[in-house]
Amino acid sequence: MSASREPGSEDTTVDVAVVGAGFAGLSAADRLVSAGRSVLVVEGRDRVGGRSLSGEVAGVKVDLGATWVARRHTAVRDLASRVGCTTTGQFDQGRNVLWMAGRRRTYSGTVPKVSPTVLVDMARMQMAVNKLVATIDVNAAWESPGADRLDAISFGEWLDRKHALPGTRALMTVVSKVQWGCTPGDVSLLHALRYIGAAGGLDHMLDVKGGQQQDRIVETTQEIAMRVAERLGDRVRLETPVRRITQDDNGVTVHIGSGGIRARYAIVTAAPAHRAAIEFDPALPERAEGLTRTWRMGVLSKAFVAYEKPFWRAGGCSGEAVTDTGTVFITFDVSPAHSGPGVLMAFCDPRVFDGFSPETRRDRVVQQLADLYGPQARTPVDYVDHRWGAEPFAPGGPNPAVAPYATTSFGKALSEPHGRIHWAGSENAGEWAGTMNGAVLTGRRTAENVVALLTRDVREGASR
Ligand SMILES: Cc1cc2nc3c(=O)[nH]c(=O)nc-3n(C[C@H](O)[C@H](O)[C@H](O)COP(=O)(O)OP(=O)(O)OC[C@H]3O[C@@H](n4cnc5c(N)ncnc54)[C@H](O)[C@@H]3O)c2cc1C
Repeated sequence: MSASREPGSEDTTVDVAVVGAGFAGLSAADRLVSAGRSVLVVEGRDRVGGRSLSGEVAGVKVDLGATWVARRHTAVRDLASRVGCTTTGQFDQGRNVLWMAGRRRTYSGTVPKVSPTVLVDMARMQMAVNKLVATIDVNAAWESPGADRLDAISFGEWLDRKHALPGTRALMTVVSKVQWGCTPGDVSLLHALRYIGAAGGLDHMLDVKGGQQQDRIVETTQEIAMRVAERLGDRVRLETPVRRITQDDNGVTVHIGSGGIRARYAIVTAAPAHRAAIEFDPALPERAEGLTRTWRMGVLSKAFVAYEKPFWRAGGCSGEAVTDTGTVFITFDVSPAHSGPGVLMAFCDPRVFDGFSPETRRDRVVQQLADLYGPQARTPVDYVDHRWGAEPFAPGGPNPAVAPYATTSFGKALSEPHGRIHWAGSENAGEWAGTMNGAVLTGRRTAENVVALLTRDVREGASR
């Protein structure tokens, strides 16, 4: 089947229709094209990249969404280098700032300078987490031994039961806000363990050197997606939200605006919660429908503050800070590698950020940076922020904040095809779930499965 468009009509016919032009959808399309298949990617937004989005502050391109790639994220790194994007190490030289319980301290390395009691407690909790993670099959967490028990409580309840000290709890809250866009009380322990396991363990998840925060993409992560989309050319259609997908014995129809795309198969890469906006006919089975209902997206916001120079470096600071007070809870130095302005990236808690006016948001962030790095932080040259929960289409991120019981009840539906509809996306990944790397891997894998089905269909058709 080749791509064809009837004159005067919106109808298009392809082998595979892909819904969503994030890393999963673009990687699926890329793989399908390499296999000689015709494909059309339809994206509801007016841009590609999904949860990757570039912004600009003081003339420096920054990542308003996904930022880092680990050394072990080879799939997304390979994709980046294929389209001419390069990596730069996350700056981490100097002392980090810790602002906890109203006290400012500085420390070197990954382990925050907390009291010896909290350090011992953190090591105890980390061991307990890693021990549980070792029991989880990241490809089928819902089938792991003890899954029901682990899914019956939240990460927060588990910290309570383990009598985690307030300092340990505060640090785990930061982890939860960054990873799932929610507090530990809002995420199932099983879901948290699955993502920690998928990230290669707690150390790999949290570390800069040798961990998930190892490198940034110089050109920004969305630029990778834009260059892949450019190669796909008119196989990618923007501002085309899919509201309905119907299927019969011969194929699927993906309904868009006034017309439809007829395809043998569809690959849907919308995050589980966003699949709820699509009407499926025949309807989704109960488990798949439950997934769309219960795997709500977490929310996270980011602010970037630019200064004439990275003044904190001169003061011996790395630009990395962790805090339990206020709007900002983590900062990183994302200044250009060689020269130019200094740029701090701040992760902000949407509950005390998203509802304010742009001026108030800026004031709150700048004030907090001044607390962390001193009065020089009060005179930025530029500022930009992004609220993922306020996106008009497919809002939320970084990842789903999945409540207790929803992983064991519905997780199995993540990858179960619904007839001719197959699913991909970073949530579907086993290893590296919740990352661009996971999205690329599932996009490719799902495309390969669909290519195998297309080949089988031809073989069976010929032998009939
Ligand atoms: C603030 C933030 C920070 C992050 N940091 C990192 C990081 O440092 N490193 C990392 O690896 N990952 C990070 N992530 C996570 C990473 O961005 C995602 O895991 C990954 O990009 C998901 O890719 P995807 O293709 O699976 O989904 P998405 O990027 O969500 O793409 C799905 C696409 O489908 C589209 N869509 C949805 N519904 C429809 C519909 N009905 N019709 C048409 N189109 C539709 C959406 O608009 C979207 O473009 C971060 C995410 C956020 C938000």
